[in-house]
Amino acid sequence: MFYGNHKYLDIGSSRKHTSGMKRRELIELLGISGWVLTLPEPLSYFAKYNNMHSKSFEVIIIGGSYAGLSAALTLGRSLRKTLIIDGGQPCNRQTPHSHNFLTQDGSTPKEFATLAKKQVMDYDSITFYDGLVTGGKKTEKGFEVSTSNGDVFTAAKLVFATGIKDLMPDIDGFAECWGISVVHCPYCHGYEIRNKKTAIIANGDKAHHLASLVNNLTKEITILTSGPGEIEDHHLEKLKKHNIPIIEKEISAITHQNGQLDQIIFKDGSTEAFDCAYASIPFKQTLTLPEELGCQLTEHGHIEVNFMQRTTVEGIYACGDNSAMMRSVATAVYGGNITGAMINNDLTQESF
Ligand SMILES: Cc1cc2nc3c(=O)[nH]c(=O)nc-3n(C[C@H](O)[C@H](O)[C@H](O)COP(=O)(O)OP(=O)(O)OC[C@H]3O[C@@H](n4cnc5c(N)ncnc54)[C@H](O)[C@@H]3O)c2cc1C
Repeated sequence: MFYGNHKYLDIGSSRKHTSGMKRRELIELLGISGWVLTLPEPLSYFAKYNNMHSKSFEVIIIGGSYAGLSAALTLGRSLRKTLIIDGGQPCNRQTPHSHNFLTQDGSTPKEFATLAKKQVMDYDSITFYDGLVTGGKKTEKGFEVSTSNGDVFTAAKLVFATGIKDLMPDIDGFAECWGISVVHCPYCHGYEIRNKKTAIIANGDKAHHLASLVNNLTKEITILTSGPGEIEDHHLEKLKKHNIPIIEKEISAITHQNGQLDQIIFKDGSTEAFDCAYASIPFKQTLTLPEELGCQLTEHGHIEVNFMQRTTVEGIYACGDNSAMMRSVATAVYGGNITGAMINNDLTQESF
């Protein structure tokens, strides 16, 4: 479904010039499109989704969360005809409160994503499409992408702002606690769970690194490697120095109340109570299209970008979690901001 901005601006101006008119007179004067403008706000908002028919854009952004919207904001302010295609599944959707992003510390993720989208959609040249990109290809003039609904769009430049997909471990209750009491990042949630009895579900260097960071926030830390420990000797010495125990028993389940961790159950039947946990889990890209188009991935599985967010394929850019080591809203917004500016620069240089 489309969500273009033309009508948004029209609504304002129509109301301004026709304030003395009755609803019916206004409908007669403006015809069908006027009828749309006179709908109550939520309905007219809905109608806007269906009123854009252009299939050709200067830029297509796949992913309309923090990174994608940030890129779109810069492009909208540069009058670039831009389509955002978004599946509406940001990775932080389950977390009750987001932290460590200036002006929005403690907001719900949806609260400020909604505000961001509203502000971006105030720019005339931006169109929003609710849907999933399922395919795409290089064309003579740029790129073509197709959606699960069968729509096809073209653009000179393509942005992947698609985030990443966290791969949940095979532990009952883990997914339900993710982002609530089992978290990925001390900067995002560590302050709120300071001084709590904390598990670190990780192994190897990651376990040591997380424990060293979290040690500043709580002294009650236990590392759970869920299998044979693979922590190097010099790291083991440091963990010992800070009285951080390691449990190697395999985890089978997490018991919880609405995502609030209660106990960790091991495969041998023993249990251990914790208030919260940090977990380092694997991820994959949300779609294979970047690779199919030739974009290189890094050894960690991120889309490779240079400092201008250009991928290894000309005309394709990436920003946000899919291409950043630091996973945060601020980093996603930063990457989107650079992307928008670089695309505008590249389009300008190509045509000026
Ligand atoms: C549980 C959890 C809690 C977090 N808490 C915090 C916090 O408190 N503070 C903080 O700063 N950071 C936090 N983060 C990190 C932060 O949420 C991410 O860094 C940020 O969301 C990345 O933004 P993004 O736009 O790159 O990706 P996302 O926000 O993940 O958005 C990606 C978007 O792309 C769309 N998409 C993907 N594939 C397609 C496709 N094929 N077609 C169309 N659309 C597609 C998705 O539907 C989604 O809307 C948290 C992360 C997690 C997982």
